[in-house]
Amino acid sequence: VPELPDVEVFRRVLQRRGLGRAIAHVAVTDRRILGKLSTREFSRRLTGKKLVRARRYGKHLLAKIDGDGWLTLHFGLTGALQPYKDPQKPPPYYRVRLDFSKGEHLAYINRRMIGRVGWTDDAEKFIAAENLGPDALGRRFTFADFKKAMTGHRRDVKSVLMDQAVVAGIGNIYADEILFQARIDPRARSNGLAPAQLRRLHRTITKVLKTAVARGAGSENFAEHLPKSFLLPARKKGGRCPRCAAALKTLKSGGHTGYFCPRCQG
Ligand SMILES: [Zn+2]
Repeated sequence: VPELPDVEVFRRVLQRRGLGRAIAHVAVTDRRILGKLSTREFSRRLTGKKLVRARRYGKHLLAKIDGDGWLTLHFGLTGALQPYKDPQKPPPYYRVRLDFSKGEHLAYINRRMIGRVGWTDDAEKFIAAENLGPDALGRRFTFADFKKAMTGHRRDVKSVLMDQAVVAGIGNIYADEILFQARIDPRARSNGLAPAQLRRLHRTITKVLKTAVARGAGSENFAEHLPKSFLLPARKKGGRCPRCAAALKTLKSGGHTGYFCPRCQG
């Protein structure tokens, strides 16, 4: 499931492959991914236009079209952005394809169709309308605001971390990783955390997400490139804590399965 680090990697792909290039052709293979926007309108906005900026906010990717608004991409549960060279061989389950001049192709893939490709005239208004809190790697993600938000919720700390209105970008996998590295029980109440725990949590969010981006989140063999201290490679049946080797416990909530160490976190 694409979370902030994965989307940041997609942003870099978009920047490297598409920036400064004109979009020669747009193809939409399943128009449901566009929501209320028509294929015709979508194509008209993009065809012959140049991408001039790639921006990420939380789990959203936004691409500025020269002299106009922004293409918006959300990846839902199974979405990805994949470059490819051979126009005859687009990746499976692609829903939208951008063909750039000079032969670059970018495919928005989404097997399960949860996610959205859209358009906005104003990136700031889009972010406000999505009700997103500060981006987890953004400058506005300050400790003071984070502390206020966390102490204002009585829910378990994991679901508050995953609440995009509190902080944008964290989902099930990285919430587990962050809580593991901050040694906090995912079931603890958000407003019951000690100041030192909050401080550690805030710092760990930045550290974990930056490390995941730097190690190429979502890429092939990603787990092998992570530091040995990461929980992520152990998130499976029979997985053991990388620190104390205890059997990990699972936690089901809201359709997700979470993992934590019953010895290290609490
Ligand atoms: Zn442990």
